[in-house]
Amino acid sequence: MKNLYGYKLEDLEQLMLEMGQKKYRATQLFKWIYERNVTSFDEMSDISLAFRETLKNEFCLEIPTIFKKQVSSDGTVKLLLSLKDDSKIETVLMRYNYGLVACVTSQVGCNMGCAFCASGLFKKQRNLEVHELVGQILVLNNLLKEENKKITHVVVMGTGEPFDNYDNVMKFIRILNHPYGFAIGARHLTVSTCGLVEKIKDYANEGIQINLAISLHAPNDKIRNKIMPISFKYPLDQLMEAIKYYEQTAKRRVTFEYILLEDVNDSIEDAKELAQLIRGTTSYVNLIPYNPVGELKYKRTSGNRVHRFMDALIKEGVNVTVRKEFGTDIDAACGQLRAKNG
Ligand code: SAH
Repeated sequence: MKNLYGYKLEDLEQLMLEMGQKKYRATQLFKWIYERNVTSFDEMSDISLAFRETLKNEFCLEIPTIFKKQVSSDGTVKLLLSLKDDSKIETVLMRYNYGLVACVTSQVGCNMGCAFCASGLFKKQRNLEVHELVGQILVLNNLLKEENKKITHVVVMGTGEPFDNYDNVMKFIRILNHPYGFAIGARHLTVSTCGLVEKIKDYANEGIQINLAISLHAPNDKIRNKIMPISFKYPLDQLMEAIKYYEQTAKRRVTFEYILLEDVNDSIEDAKELAQLIRGTTSYVNLIPYNPVGELKYKRTSGNRVHRFMDALIKEGVNVTVRKEFGTDIDAACGQLRAKNG
């Protein structure tokens, strides 16, 4: 059975035509399930009884179930969701002053193998389907109903490499962005990648004003090779070229994410080299305090050194911010997602 949450509007229109229906049926359905958040076909009063029966036979409206829920003292919510095949994935809700941000998982496990990351401890089992991506937002919106609120921003920065599940992630983005879908503005949507060069170029050509974050984490290939195996496949010169292509084509800046790891990438020289590397781009650096992972050897750079690093970047004319941390008390902090079962 097909899941109705698995289609962007254009694909649903195509399906309706194939079912001998008019194209606008798709818009009606979209409005019911996203604008009005209806969860059964019986409530769709402007659709004929006969066609509602057909829909019931062909489509379901299932979303992941909550297996475990943790709420942090800062209001961050981490959910362990159960999927149809019993896979478990994590989704996080963060409360920023500018809005409610969902941090979405794109794959069950991850194959990128970044040395510092908890998610990579579990190899990729599969890509998430479009309805499983959409489902994460619906589950969070259901929770937010009692506060009369909805998710306002989405970052695809949970477990997995979104560009290794490119087509499904882009369909998801279209559903989030569509006025009859979740109607979330493109500038409130961010996809984060460890740097799959061809996909960065595809993304540049999507013609949508959505944000791109690049997990850079190193100022040169030598350091990057040690912590991010993807760098052997796509060395920094190729990555930077793709980013420049993106900036010119999409007319958008990227955010460079840079985790500070003690004695790995956090010296003043590293800061200077980083400034050099990104010179010529219009983009800025978001320094991420590292959240230590029990099994791994990496340590967080201390507060003083963070400031020295930041100052060195500023001196070189780089725009830089330090990421605010959420949910550290419930392992929901950036990089802590690992879908422990139980
Ligand atoms: N695969 C994508 C998206 C998921 S990771 C990517 O690489 O961008 C989201 C971000 O969290 C990345 O910048 C990643 O490097 C970072 N991250 C991973 N482990 C972390 C940790 N322990 N502490 C802080 N950030 C971490």
